[in-house]
Amino acid sequence: MISVAIDGPAGAGKSTIAKTASKKLGYIYIDTGALYRSIGYFVVSNGGDIDNAESVVSFLPNISAEIKFIDEAQHVFINGEDVSDKIRTEEISRAASKVSAIPKVREFLLELQRGFAKKYNVVMDGRDIGTVVLPNAQVKIFLTASAEERAKRRYKEQIERGLDVSFDEILADIKERDYRDENREIAPLKPAEDSILVDTSNLNIEQSVQAVIDTVKSKIGE
Ligand code: C5P
Repeated sequence: MISVAIDGPAGAGKSTIAKTASKKLGYIYIDTGALYRSIGYFVVSNGGDIDNAESVVSFLPNISAEIKFIDEAQHVFINGEDVSDKIRTEEISRAASKVSAIPKVREFLLELQRGFAKKYNVVMDGRDIGTVVLPNAQVKIFLTASAEERAKRRYKEQIERGLDVSFDEILADIKERDYRDENREIAPLKPAEDSILVDTSNLNIEQSVQAVIDTVKSKIGE
């Protein structure tokens, strides 16, 4: 089985790029951020305190998380409920970032992620895929872009969705999330030693996808 690990900060275009690249490669695409988002969503919607690790961890024994593919798209089910449409808000972005700093939450999701790489050729995106989840992945890519460029993209996306958002708030949010992801004690966001850096600041989606595919092909020798 071939595993392509794609890590990088929020808003670098990882999921769009990884999804498109996986289709072209004929691999399964796993968005691991959706799992952290789903845990965050469950805790928030069941009245838990997202800032209190003990409160978050107390929910885990009652959570069964599954990934299913519907029309080739990944859906996350929590206790049988498809939460995929509910986890893309700014509130849940923040909640996901918070729950993902809790070691027991990371542990809870580890085997689910590894299981897919055992069974399928995968492109898996997240923060710690090359370093922790799939340390033996044949291809490791660190996909990034400047914070300003990432904020610009997210701002445009939200405005197009008709949401009333502020650029400065989005930029501050991205910087805060970067800081939290990079400085947490467990599985901090950092490039694996054997990863290849792809900076998309000056690339459009198509060029970024091509850069990923070229990297994969050069690594696996196709
Ligand atoms: O990638 P996405 O923005 O959907 O991820 C949501 C949050 O989940 C991120 O802010 C990050 O803190 C966390 N995450 C993580 N490890 C992963 C994937 C996501 O800590 N492998």
